[in-house]
Amino acid sequence: MSDRRLCIQYAEIFPSTLITLSAEDRKYLFKVLRYSAGDTLSVIDGKGKIYRARVIDKKTLEILYEEKRYQEDIFSIFLCQGLLKGGRMEMVIQKTTEIGVKKIIPFVSERCIIKHTRKIERWKKIAKEATEQSGGITVPEINEIVNFSDLIKQVENGILFWENSEASLMRAVLELTPDSPIFLFIGPEGGFSPKEVQLAEKRGMKIVSLGKRILRAETASIVSLALVNFLLQVKLGKIKL
Ligand code: SAH
Repeated sequence: MSDRRLCIQYAEIFPSTLITLSAEDRKYLFKVLRYSAGDTLSVIDGKGKIYRARVIDKKTLEILYEEKRYQEDIFSIFLCQGLLKGGRMEMVIQKTTEIGVKKIIPFVSERCIIKHTRKIERWKKIAKEATEQSGGITVPEINEIVNFSDLIKQVENGILFWENSEASLMRAVLELTPDSPIFLFIGPEGGFSPKEVQLAEKRGMKIVSLGKRILRAETASIVSLALVNFLLQVKLGKIKL
């Protein structure tokens, strides 16, 4: 039996309370993970707390106690992603959640092929499952879709990834302010227009390349999140060279 985490956001969680499981969580716990009465597991509230819990019956969990606080990254990376077609957005959400993104802000820009989606609820579910699977304790927030031109006016600490730039990622990360949210921008399949890059530059965003190859947007998101996450940890002394 694996010690998987269950994320419960539909009930208030405190020690000594009983939680009635949703139909979906019942299926996951009893059919997929094959838990039974008396077994214990970890429950996260998705906002940063983790609890030990015991299975009472096929519908109920008892919350036992709060487990030791687990230190997540001290910085927050917000991924701003141009809307992508088909399953690509789902892949971005799943993989960047595993790496530790704190918020995903989908945006529509000039070169987006699609401009709407009805998938936000599905994306939230993917973020919850990827958090449970990867042992995280905070579920990244999935923002409503916004326009690039509105979004860019509200950000200042971050990087826009542009294949035509020559600037160094290392220097850009060293110049970020880690104690306020860090915004990473990845364009849609068609990329950013020169005007959009200019707008970002005016806001003080760093315009940076990921190397000579043109990556697919979903690859660029995953790679940039992993690199920035890693370099920030080095900068803050959490990983020794
Ligand atoms: N406009 C291009 C590529 C778009 S790739 C074209 O159509 O040929 C989609 C997004 O991935 C880009 O907007 C950018 O944010 C990111 N990206 C891909 N390769 C990159 C690279 N080498 N450096 C920086 N960003 C890159």
